[in-house]
Amino acid sequence: MSKYIVVTGGVVSSIGKGITSASIGRILRSYGLNVTAIKIDPYLNWDSGTLNPYQHGEVFVTEDGMETDLDLGHYERFLDVNLSGKANITTGKVYSSVIEKERRGDYLGSCVQIIPHITDEIKLMIKNIEEDTKADVIMIEVGGTVGDIESQPFIEALRQLRNTEGQENCMFVHVTYVPYLRAAGEFKTKPTQHSTKELRGLGINPDMIVCRSELPLAADIKNKIAHFCDVQPKAVINTPDAHSIYEVPLIMHSANVGDFIINRLHLDVDTKPDLYGWSTIVEDLKIDKPEINIGVIGKYTELEDAYISIREALKHAGAENKVKIEIDWIKADDEFNTDVLKECDGLLIPGGFGERGIQGKLEAVKYAIENKVPIFGICLGLHAMVIELARLNGYPDANSTEFDENCKYPVIDMMEKQKEIKNMGGTMRLGAYPCLIKEKTISYEAFAKKHVLERHRHRYEINNDYRDALEKMGVTIAGVSPDDFLVEIIELEDHPWFVGCQSHPEFKSKPNKAHPLFASFIKAAKEYNKNMDVKKA
Ligand code: GLN
Repeated sequence: MSKYIVVTGGVVSSIGKGITSASIGRILRSYGLNVTAIKIDPYLNWDSGTLNPYQHGEVFVTEDGMETDLDLGHYERFLDVNLSGKANITTGKVYSSVIEKERRGDYLGSCVQIIPHITDEIKLMIKNIEEDTKADVIMIEVGGTVGDIESQPFIEALRQLRNTEGQENCMFVHVTYVPYLRAAGEFKTKPTQHSTKELRGLGINPDMIVCRSELPLAADIKNKIAHFCDVQPKAVINTPDAHSIYEVPLIMHSANVGDFIINRLHLDVDTKPDLYGWSTIVEDLKIDKPEINIGVIGKYTELEDAYISIREALKHAGAENKVKIEIDWIKADDEFNTDVLKECDGLLIPGGFGERGIQGKLEAVKYAIENKVPIFGICLGLHAMVIELARLNGYPDANSTEFDENCKYPVIDMMEKQKEIKNMGGTMRLGAYPCLIKEKTISYEAFAKKHVLERHRHRYEINNDYRDALEKMGVTIAGVSPDDFLVEIIELEDHPWFVGCQSHPEFKSKPNKAHPLFASFIKAAKEYNKNMDVKKA
């Protein structure tokens, strides 16, 4: 039987409930416990697939092909697990399932209501994960802030869960923000008191309060919160802004969060917590020299959250190569000019949808070819590489049919198989697919194995009609699907590091296990930086 830790939030959004949940999970994992996580998103969308990255940040794709909230990425990176798409529960999924059951007549004529039918469905979805994972501990993060209308059925379901599972098997952690009023020169606890009161109004007394703040809180402030919010003083945990998100498990560990939870939930552990490996990662992430500049040429560059896994994967690769990564977020719009690429030691073109910004990406590919700068193309980035290579080599009108259905040379196109899927409703190649790596390539050197599994999220592919033509242009087909039908990775001869992949390796990178392609890319960028320094000297 699993134990549950429910994480709610108050005061303001974006205070890092996801990182808090992931950090608690990481601490418990360091005691040898098997931990998994669930993210509840109280919006009506069925999944995150249709959400605009500007509004909601990156869409994270799981191994089983679900388009989910970016917090699942944090959980996978902190807990070092692959989660199922079922771990992202939305109001959309809950209601769809209940309505389907109602249509089937499963409720035998009863009036279908939020309580008990919606709340029962929520509990069932949680129980299914318990059954699938057999985890010792399940972290359940509730999106939004306490008091939101849309999260109420979830809070109620979780209150019921604590009742049915027993107090000793389920605890609540409330994450709040403690603002510092500069004019008054003090921290203010009132917003935390109010949001805890709101939670208690819903029948839940938190067992632990995690106070986010800009600077560390003094003991008297924490005691005041303990007193007014009715939690034990040792259960008021302060997590001030940290140098990196990976430091949070260490900060919480030093406040004895793990021991408190183990006692509170009567968890059976016989090993001492071991966060040594994790603290080494944190140290490696603090390296500040040499500094490697990576230009990310994308469309949603104003909001870093839109490329959160890319950012983290670059950091992991930086730590592995013992360099500091400085990311230049470069907008590929009408004003784009390759002059901005001059300071970059490596270029990365991430995935994306639609034509806007594509011209800038093509120019960046040309710049990387001409200046022999390492360049990494991911999904749409790979498409930009292939289009530009074709245009430079005698196919002036080459394009993707995503941008021009009637172009003369559709080097990127939707495969027939994909068109069939479209007719069945789901239109994308989603989730993990196997890829065969060709020996004696940069990719093989990076992966050091022939068979890999990588995550996908796209409709278009390299058009096989142009495979020979591409090879004549100096392209190496470095990775293919096992039946050789789909090109998965390309490289370019006579270039220090030019790799484009159809998958999204950023989703599989972990802080202590940088993705091999990212690690190899940063190694090449480090080399480029060194050569440039020699040239300048
Ligand atoms: N828009 C492209 C496609 O659908 C690429 C998608 C992506 O980069 N994830 O194939």
